Amino acid sequence: MSDLLLIDGSQGEGGGQILRSSLALSLVTGRPFKMENIRANRKKPGLMRQHLTAVKAAATISGSVVSDVEIGSQTLVFEPGSVSGGNYTFHIGSAGSASLVLQTVLPALMMAKTPSVLTIIGGTHNPMAPPFDFLQKVFTPFVNRLGPNLKMELIHYGFFPAGGGEIRVHVQPAQKLGPLQLLKRGELISRQARILDSRLPEQVVENERKLLLHAGWSDSEVKIEKVLNSHGSGNVIMLQLQMEEITEMFTAFGIRGVPAQRVVQEVVDRYRLYWNSKAPVGEFLADQLLLPLGIAAWQNSGTSEFLTGPLSGHTVTHMEILRQFLDINITVKECSANQFLVQTG
Ligand code: AMP
Repeated sequence: MSDLLLIDGSQGEGGGQILRSSLALSLVTGRPFKMENIRANRKKPGLMRQHLTAVKAAATISGSVVSDVEIGSQTLVFEPGSVSGGNYTFHIGSAGSASLVLQTVLPALMMAKTPSVLTIIGGTHNPMAPPFDFLQKVFTPFVNRLGPNLKMELIHYGFFPAGGGEIRVHVQPAQKLGPLQLLKRGELISRQARILDSRLPEQVVENERKLLLHAGWSDSEVKIEKVLNSHGSGNVIMLQLQMEEITEMFTAFGIRGVPAQRVVQEVVDRYRLYWNSKAPVGEFLADQLLLPLGIAAWQNSGTSEFLTGPLSGHTVTHMEILRQFLDINITVKECSANQFLVQTG
């Protein structure tokens, strides 16, 4: 096998992102890879159902050849085939995150020759993954500025741990991704605090609402949304900021046994950290934007740059994976204690 790239799954963050991005980049570049120590830094290392679905999804859209893998596997060899747009349905078969399976196949499909419609069945609102709303409101507008056109639909909510949600994504591809500059937020247009409530005691969500009011959100900004069509109970608080140049979103998940106060505190802290940094790109968007911007740099589309706050472990690890696959320059300049300029080119 020519040009087999060896990737150490335990480097940096050592989680599922290294696997997902390696699959995505292998499909885009045509470079085969072998990964060892998959998710070595997680409590249950190796492939979980969600990661196995991501591997199978990557193979399905491209006819790739994959070594024998199962749940728990810590080594994988992936030889990419050629990607075809089309109608695809992927069942995770657990509450594993649909967003993360989507992240694996989206880069290749948004650069395919023909359009796609993807249906993914699994969790739509999971801790430690982008909630559907983040993908739709925060991530998608940037991808659409790079050339492709994505439209995201939430068919059914699926909260962790019950899962059973469904998302549908319509992908109009563009063969070349353009560069992007994202250096300011622009004026704040609106703020929204959404509390998703699936089968919770009224007192819990009402308590969260009051705590948000106490934290400085106004009555008209805070909305409780009752979810009637999900398989299990669920509680998510999403703080959304719409600014002239960017929409950002901060999330916390209510978990049985965790006091509402802690959940509200968590999401408000995330929001304040972002707001005080004055940088446009938040922690999660930073690591997710790097993938399409890295691909644009690999295609010689010019330099992309964005300003963000202190870099997360995910962002730093992601830069390393992009350098290994794409052989591009990614630089980080500290502009002030809370602002970093990231450039790919
Ligand atoms: P991993 O932990 O390696 O499976 O990667 C998790 C991915 O989910 C990263 O790309 C994070 O940016 C993303 N993520 C985790 N939590 C959130 C959140 N609250 N909002 C948006 N994205 C998130």
